[in-house]
Amino acid sequence: MIILMGATGSGKSLQSRLLADECGYTWISTGKILRSLMTSKSRQEMLAGELVSDQELIQMLSQKFESIKPKQLVVLDGFPRTLAQAEWLIEWAKSSDFEITAIFNLEVAHAVVRNRLIKRGRFDDTETAIKQRFKEFELVTQPIIKLLKDEGYRIFNINAEGNPETIHQDIIKAINGISINN
Ligand code: AMP
Repeated sequence: MIILMGATGSGKSLQSRLLADECGYTWISTGKILRSLMTSKSRQEMLAGELVSDQELIQMLSQKFESIKPKQLVVLDGFPRTLAQAEWLIEWAKSSDFEITAIFNLEVAHAVVRNRLIKRGRFDDTETAIKQRFKEFELVTQPIIKLLKDEGYRIFNINAEGNPETIHQDIIKAINGISINN
C-alpha cells in the first residue's frame, strides 16, 4: 500500500487515478467515500472545510480494508489527516499482513491550490473551505510526517506544482527504486 498525502488541491486524486488506470492500483479515497455516504453532518463539515471525526473515518476505513488483500496494490488517498488516524494506521499495519511501502507528500503552494480548486468548482470548494483546509493541513501534516518517519516509513516529498504526467513519473520512479533496493 502506498499513501498519498497533500492539501486538497495538491493533485492527490489525479495522481491516485493515474496509478489506478496506468498501474492497476486499487484507489481508496476517504473524501470520495465520504461524499458517497454524505450524512448531513459530514456534508456540513466538508462544506466548512473541517475534518470529519476520527471515529467516523476509522470505522469507515476498517470496513473498506476488509475488502482488500495484503499483496494487492493499493493507493490510499486522503488518510491519515490527523495524528490519531496515523497512529491507528500504524497499529493496523503492524497487526495485519499489509505493508505500507511508501508515503508521498505532494507539495504545493497555497496560491496554486486555490487556483486549481476554484477551477474545479466542487460543492465544498468555497473560498472559506479552501482556506480552512489549507491551514488545517499545514498544522497537522508536519507532526504526522514526523511520526511516520520515526516509525521507519519512507517519506518522499514530491514537488506537485508541475505537469501531472511528470509528477506521476516521479512517483513511479520512487516506487521502482524501493522494489530494486529491497
Ligand atoms: P478530499 O477529497 O481528500 O479533498 O476530502 C474532502 C473532505 O472530506 C475534507 O475536506 C474533509 O472534510 C473530508 N475528509 C476526507 N478525508 C478525511 C480524513 N482522513 N479525515 C477527516 N476528514 C476527511
